Parts: sequence; C-alpha cells; structure tokens
Amino acid sequence: QLSKRLKQVADYVEKGARVADIGSDHAYLPCYLADQGKITFAVAGEVVQGPFNNAVKEVRRTGLEKIVEVRLGDGLMVLKPEDQIDTVTIAGMGGALIRSILEKGQENDRLTGQETLILQPNVFEETVREYLMEQQYRITDETILEENDKIYEIIKAVPSDVQMIYSKKELLFGPYLSKEQSDTFQKKWTQQMHTDEFIVGQMERSSQPNEEKLSALKEEIKLIKEMIE
Ligand code: SAM
Repeated sequence: QLSKRLKQVADYVEKGARVADIGSDHAYLPCYLADQGKITFAVAGEVVQGPFNNAVKEVRRTGLEKIVEVRLGDGLMVLKPEDQIDTVTIAGMGGALIRSILEKGQENDRLTGQETLILQPNVFEETVREYLMEQQYRITDETILEENDKIYEIIKAVPSDVQMIYSKKELLFGPYLSKEQSDTFQKKWTQQMHTDEFIVGQMERSSQPNEEKLSALKEEIKLIKEMIE
C-alpha cells in the first residue's frame, strides 16, 4: 500500500511518462506507477547502497524489471540521453538537497529543462519554488496533506515560455495552497508560527542573538499572521 504522500506524487505523473525517481529508496513510487500501467519506463536512482538494494529487491519482487531500472549514483547523474526521461520525481528530502540535485543535473546536462518536475520537499519548500521560478518553470499544481502527524507539500511544475514571477508570499506559502487555505494549510502555518515565536523568545533572552536570523524569523511570523489571520 503506497503512502498517501507518494500516491499524490503518482497522481501528478502523466500517463505514458518516462520517469526518473531520484532518491527512490524502496522504489515504491516507480513500481506502483509501472504496476498501474501508467508509465512506460522508469529509472529509480539511489546514492546509498542499502536503499539501492531495497529498490532492486522491490523491482524483482514485483516482476517489473522490464519497466523499472534501478541505478546506483548521485542524483540525476545516473541518467543517460537515451532514457528520454520526461518527468523527474524527487520526494522525501529537504528543499535544499532537492535544489542541489536539480542544479547538478543541469550543470551536467542531465536535465534538458523540458521535463515535468514533481517535487515533495520535507522542509524548505520556498527554496524549491525559488529554483523553479529562476529556472523558468511554472507551478501547475500543489497539494498539502497530512499523514502520520506530518504535513507534506507536493509541487508540480512544467517548463514555461515566459518567466513566472512569484511574490515572496507565493514562494513561501505556495501560489495555489495560499489561495485554497485548506485546514491542513492553516494547521501547518499556525504550528510554524508558534515554533518561530518560541525561537524568537529564546533568542531575545540570549546575550548575543544572531540578529540576521532573528529578523528573518520576525519577518516570517509577520507574513504568516497576514496569511492566516
Ligand atoms: N523518495 C522516497 C520517498 O519519498 O519515500 C524515499 C525518501 S528517503 C527519506 C530519501 C532517499 O534519498 C534516501 O534513500 C537517500 O539515500 C536518497 N538520496 C539522498 N541524496 C541523494 C542523491 N544525491 N542522489 C540519490 N539519492 C539520494
């Protein structure tokens, strides 16, 4: 049974896609997509031996070797031009790591810039949206959901002819999520505001607070209040 989080990533994949799932761990996502007949080919990329072995086992167990190929290596470096990947999924990592994987892929010509990106950062979604804006992608879909007491955001983006300009608020909260203002969205940002306020309180009591961090946190609290109150 696929997690609700990965199921949403899977739902964003177009039928007939050729997918690279980077940081695939057990390869649950590409195996699910292949099993559903939704994709024609997938690379499951893993940089760590243990998760790579998990992926190999899962592909064998499900008998999907013809569709899902497991490769050991760093990020998008496992890809070859003949894979003709049109969709990249990266889930379950921090926003900064997702961004650095995409940047390295670009620098090494592993991304053509024409791929659909489906990204699920665990933290720092803003970093991911900033990257998408800078690299001329357009965000087409976003979901926020809660599973096992954690809240996740999933972002789908496609290459754009024109540069999209997202405001600071859209980058932080998501252009769609901030419009929908779902209960889960309210919950996430209420929690984040309380966390930020707690840290600000602690920093203000310390003898040498990091002024830069302090003002960034205060700015975030202000933005959150404007957004949810
Ligand atoms: N994508 C799966 C999911 O969402 O359930 C697994 C997420 S798991 C928390 C993150 C995985 O990314 C780990 O298995 C880790 O080894 C892998 N990883 C981290 N950095 C990577 C990189 N640069 N290239 C490939 N895999 C990486």
